[in-house]
Amino acid sequence: MAERTAVIVGGGIGGMAAAAGLHRRGWTVRVLEQAGAFTEVGAGISVWPNAFRALAAVGVTGSLGAGPIGVAGGLRDWRGRWIVRMDDTTDATRHTGAAVVAHRAQLLDALLDQVPPECRMAGVPVRAVRHAGHRAVVSHDGGELDADLVVGADGVRSAVRSSLWPDAAPPVYAGQTAWRIVMPRPESQAAPGARAWAETWGPGGVFGMFPMSQDRIYCYATATVPPGGHGPDGELAELRRRFRDWCDPIPAVLAAARPEHVLRNDIYYLPRLPAYVDGPVALVGDAAHAMTPNLGQGGCQALEDAAALSVLAGTEPDLAVALRRYDELRRPRTQQLWRRSLLGGTVAHLVPAPLRVARNAVLRAVPRSLFLRSLAQPFSWRPPAEIVTK
Ligand SMILES: Cc1cc2nc3c(=O)[nH]c(=O)nc-3n(C[C@H](O)[C@H](O)[C@H](O)COP(=O)(O)OP(=O)(O)OC[C@H]3O[C@@H](n4cnc5c(N)ncnc54)[C@H](O)[C@@H]3O)c2cc1C
Repeated sequence: MAERTAVIVGGGIGGMAAAAGLHRRGWTVRVLEQAGAFTEVGAGISVWPNAFRALAAVGVTGSLGAGPIGVAGGLRDWRGRWIVRMDDTTDATRHTGAAVVAHRAQLLDALLDQVPPECRMAGVPVRAVRHAGHRAVVSHDGGELDADLVVGADGVRSAVRSSLWPDAAPPVYAGQTAWRIVMPRPESQAAPGARAWAETWGPGGVFGMFPMSQDRIYCYATATVPPGGHGPDGELAELRRRFRDWCDPIPAVLAAARPEHVLRNDIYYLPRLPAYVDGPVALVGDAAHAMTPNLGQGGCQALEDAAALSVLAGTEPDLAVALRRYDELRRPRTQQLWRRSLLGGTVAHLVPAPLRVARNAVLRAVPRSLFLRSLAQPFSWRPPAEIVTK
């Protein structure tokens, strides 16, 4: 095949994975990132078996320096009563497979390792994209670049989407803000059999806690509040106040955290798009389908998008055919998970006590194997088969 060129807008997880996958299949790639460096925020990210298959398809193997999630734990109410309890040695590991909570920086570094430095341009905000015959042209602060393929991997407020999908609805505030904490493993969680690895649901809020490695843990919390808020005396003080009456070890873990460990972001989702492809331009990740974090699948889907796009565009000689197939494969799957995630967030954040009691009773009555099977349903994804060209 003649040399083919791709410009990738955005050097986050989705963009770097697309760059890695296309570079691996012989494309000449250039990644334009608006930030001054290719970096990720200091937070954890759940990486499920579907994402590990996507990573393998773009050339990344290994455990990302993280230990498996499949430990004793489950889902509790804020008083500490188990709603769904799992045992390390039984169902949980079987259903979650090789899932880990990795540090985002480690995931991004593993992707950056697959893309030569000369292909990456930091400090280059893209302003717009337009078609030029069968090709596309990207305008950035320093000029223009044209390519056979442009990948919009520029997140929930995508400039690529604004250029070519002008009728797309803007991102919507999901009703919750999220805090994320990466911190040293506290004393209460040091025992090998510690049972509090769990997501805990309370009135209008969630607190989650998972091991990342021998010496670090990842916590996240959400609360139903108006957008744009800030803790008046800092986010850690805000968290300690909000979660002080929640069950052990949440207050103790927050007591051991430090203010610099805490990140806060409002959660936005993107209303569904009618297409992920326009001519030689394809959207991946949050630019196409930003979803609420309740399934822990947003980033995993960005990786799946990148793997599917690079397998199809990398091996199908007719790019238009490859991109049509990309849209057909990715839109139904990501939009189904988007819906499930939104529903999961609504169910997790119920406020009225009678509704919460009823929800917990229903979940307790569901056979554990059925609960785990439904949770694990997204994990069976595999990348499209490579098309063999002569
Ligand atoms: C609280 C929270 C918890 C989450 N937890 C999980 C989880 O556990 N597991 C999971 O799989 N997912 C999770 N997600 C979702 C996940 O973070 C996103 O789906 C993922 O980061 C999307 O990756 P992306 O590369 O598409 O977009 P982004 O990560 O947003 O990256 C976009 C990149 O494009 C750059 N950019 C933007 N505009 C421009 C421009 N005009 N020009 C050039 N560059 C530009 C940005 O600087 C950025 O580097 C969570 C999300 C939140 C909010």
